[in-house]
Amino acid sequence: MPNLVAVLVTLFVLFVPLKVIAWGSYGHQQINRSAVKLLKNTPEGACFTQNIEFMTRLAITPDYDWKSINMVNTPAELKHAKVMANVYEHPLHYFEYDAFCQPDQTAKACKLPTGDSFKGKTLTRLGNLLKGRIDYVLKMDPSKKIKDVNHPSPKEIAEHGVAPWRIKQLWNLAIEKLKTKKSEDVELALIFLGAMGHYVGDMSQPFHSSLNFDGGSNRPPATGIHHTYEECILEAEAKKVVGRKKDNWDKQKWIWTKFDGTDKEVLADSGCLVESSCPVVKPIKSKEIIEEVLNLDQSGQKYVQPLIDVFLNGNPYAKRDKNGNIVTPDHKPASTMPTESTNEGLNSDQVADSKPTPKPPDKYCDIYKDMNVNIAGQGPQTVLQSAELRMGQSSSLLAQLWVSAMKESGMDLRRCPSNLKFDMAKVINNYPLFSKDIRSAEHSKKQSENSDQDGQNNEANDPNAENRDSAPVTSGINSNSTR
Ligand SMILES: [Zn+2]
Ligand SMILES: [Zn+2]
Repeated sequence: MPNLVAVLVTLFVLFVPLKVIAWGSYGHQQINRSAVKLLKNTPEGACFTQNIEFMTRLAITPDYDWKSINMVNTPAELKHAKVMANVYEHPLHYFEYDAFCQPDQTAKACKLPTGDSFKGKTLTRLGNLLKGRIDYVLKMDPSKKIKDVNHPSPKEIAEHGVAPWRIKQLWNLAIEKLKTKKSEDVELALIFLGAMGHYVGDMSQPFHSSLNFDGGSNRPPATGIHHTYEECILEAEAKKVVGRKKDNWDKQKWIWTKFDGTDKEVLADSGCLVESSCPVVKPIKSKEIIEEVLNLDQSGQKYVQPLIDVFLNGNPYAKRDKNGNIVTPDHKPASTMPTESTNEGLNSDQVADSKPTPKPPDKYCDIYKDMNVNIAGQGPQTVLQSAELRMGQSSSLLAQLWVSAMKESGMDLRRCPSNLKFDMAKVINNYPLFSKDIRSAEHSKKQSENSDQDGQNNEANDPNAENRDSAPVTSGINSNSTR
């Protein structure tokens, strides 16, 4: 019986291919897992170690449980709540540092706001910073227009991302829950802390920190780099080491079971060379959290251009003119989906020369991941190693956040449950709403525009799904340029 929920679900399933996932499910699960391991030898760590599978699965909750991805695996009674959460999720996954500050400026030097609430003074300060960089912002991403440049609205500010404040929100919520004497609240706290790991991971993905989030501001464009860097190269490595995706993906539980290609490296990059003797993780003070997160985001700035340069220059599938200059990377035909949102960041003539949104062939990931990239202030490394380093940095910050949440709450660690089982209903029904003000304009607009389309691109019958092995990760997601 068609009811409002069914209609909404259909509408939002339509948007699924437009949304992609930072670090993919592999990378996000790797980050949470390394954070658990980092804490292995601390008293607080036991709480996480005895729930490692639970914490690993929660790493993908903001993408898979709170967005309209994975709809076919969602029980009917949860679909409505999920669709509602999806309306708010998008800007929670990134922060475009260069929209507010010089890329090489620290958060402190730039005087970015670091208070908990995403209103009042925080919005005023962000609005002023944005105003000061508006010419640059529009050059990089002409879609980010501001109606009244002297008074950017909360929504216009939030279009540049709010991840640092989302992280703090979840940290605060977790502490609130840890302080009660109810045992089910400890589980909820762990849900918030696990999901928080997702956004911390997002902050280490350089293409979640930049206006040039998918190379679309480049000429020639480097479209497709976002997905290639955060997901495709990691899976290419995993496949090389472990074998086909179905060999290390638990379809029932939605978690990766083997991380042989990157586990040691990410843990080492997070500060632990030998798993059995990881160093003590020092907690972080509540009022320093947002600044630390902003600094992680900022430190990704110097990766953006070098990664793009290597991506374009090393791409054997790129089309070149007779002088050997890259005209445009060669790509598979893009999705037949409406391309409106995948053209974000391009002005109208740029849109014309880049339609449909291109995407490099997946086999390029095998080549790209092993190419050398020079990041300022770092030794020689491959593209894959640079991704592992970033993931390790977020694992390290995440472990600090977890330990400090436990300490700050004064929780009796003996109350910590073990072997918690992931419960999708609990995770969806306790969705922590961030702020109604930032409800994405993009979503409300598309809702009306797409209402006459059918659901032909949902993941159940996505044509790409079959050539992606068991394809848990991006089945149905064709986008290159969204987060
Ligand atoms: Zn992403
Ligand atoms: Zn994300």
